[in-house]
Amino acid sequence: MDRPRITIFDTTLRDGEQSPGCSMNVQEKLRLAQQLDRLGVDVIEAGFPIASDGDFEAVQRIAASVRRPIIAGLARACSGDVDRAWQALQGAAHPRIHVFLATSDIHLKYKLRITSERCLEQARDAVRHAKSLCADVEFSPEDATRTDIPFLCEVVEAVIAAGATTVNIPDTVGYTMPEEYGQLIRALYENVAGIDKATISTHCHNDLGLAVANSLAGVQNGARQVECTINGIGERAGNASLEEIVMAMRVRPDRYAFETGVASEQLYSSSQMLAEITRVPVQPNKAITGRNAFAHEAGIHQDGMLKNPLTYEIMTPQSVGVPDSRLVLGKHSGRHALALRCEQLGHQFERRELDEVYRRFVVLADRIKKVQDSHLLELIQDVTSGDVSRGNVSKSEVTGNQGKKFPPAAAALPLPRAVSAAANSNEAHPAHASNTGQATMLIPFTDHHSEQEDYLWGV
Ligand SMILES: [Zn+2]
Repeated sequence: MDRPRITIFDTTLRDGEQSPGCSMNVQEKLRLAQQLDRLGVDVIEAGFPIASDGDFEAVQRIAASVRRPIIAGLARACSGDVDRAWQALQGAAHPRIHVFLATSDIHLKYKLRITSERCLEQARDAVRHAKSLCADVEFSPEDATRTDIPFLCEVVEAVIAAGATTVNIPDTVGYTMPEEYGQLIRALYENVAGIDKATISTHCHNDLGLAVANSLAGVQNGARQVECTINGIGERAGNASLEEIVMAMRVRPDRYAFETGVASEQLYSSSQMLAEITRVPVQPNKAITGRNAFAHEAGIHQDGMLKNPLTYEIMTPQSVGVPDSRLVLGKHSGRHALALRCEQLGHQFERRELDEVYRRFVVLADRIKKVQDSHLLELIQDVTSGDVSRGNVSKSEVTGNQGKKFPPAAAALPLPRAVSAAANSNEAHPAHASNTGQATMLIPFTDHHSEQEDYLWGV
């Protein structure tokens, strides 16, 4: 079964780089371009050569050293821009000149101050000029989604006739809706003569959080190239996120039966590299590449995950290059997850011992959000070295008490050393240093709600 192939056009280095705080120097762009090559994108838009000498040099260097993908350079619809782009792309194995010109009334009237006739002419001339230099020419009618559809069809037809091999339909301001954008792409297929001579492309911005949905709607209606960026960086709210587009198609081929050339195992490292270079961290809950994208903290989720990852995971972390499904140990974690982490740290416990480790763990997790391995190791050490007595809670108090499975209202417990320091600086949870130098805390057990107790003693 042959699925249609979607061209992945990465514009992290051009549109993405335009976003505040995401500028990169030439060396950094080169490094990222090499990673994009490993990732398997089809087109790298390396920059806007006329915009600055730095952009020119970046495009030139990337063109010279990244040989597999198409390297695109952006140009406004005028010969100076097109010539400069072509100059930068000279050394490319597969060069593409990407020409753009706004077509919406609002842009023509207030920004360009030209008539629609002039716009059509300028677009056609610029594409013709680009085509005289380079076989691979892309044209973008900027603000296409706010352009009068009959006029947009006219422009698209003219640029294809002039030699454009890709026509991109930008939702420059992130205004369109999925159904509407899909209809627009379909309208082009129905009304533009010669449309089969060009690849139709999507370029969606995320101002309403719909960039990925819009891009997918475009693909469903005939678009065969998607312009996107790593981590969805880009102007304002960003561009369609490459990793989300690719994985949506990979996870749901029943809905989106398309192929891409992306090696999805490279997604996470690409995302990490971009975040490292720009020092713009990925939001923790970012789909696919966020720190929490594969983290499961709730006890019931962790338990299900350990029994069968399919219970809560629609794709494996490995498939996008995340090293491991990180079970975050926090106060909602269950005993099963704790036992496994202990095992990974080299400690196997019998039920009774595990009870004690777990009891202390919950107390600790109540104080600090995330229990790190180092905390856990200290806690284990305290339990295994028989330091139970050091805490003022005896086992009988823990399990006795007329069948009630929780200790008295308040008990002082020893706190692992690594946590003591943190707790000491935390005014909200004052730690009291005992005369042995061991910090202890007053733990109000009545604070645990009943669900917590279920997790504490159940499973
Ligand atoms: Zn854009």
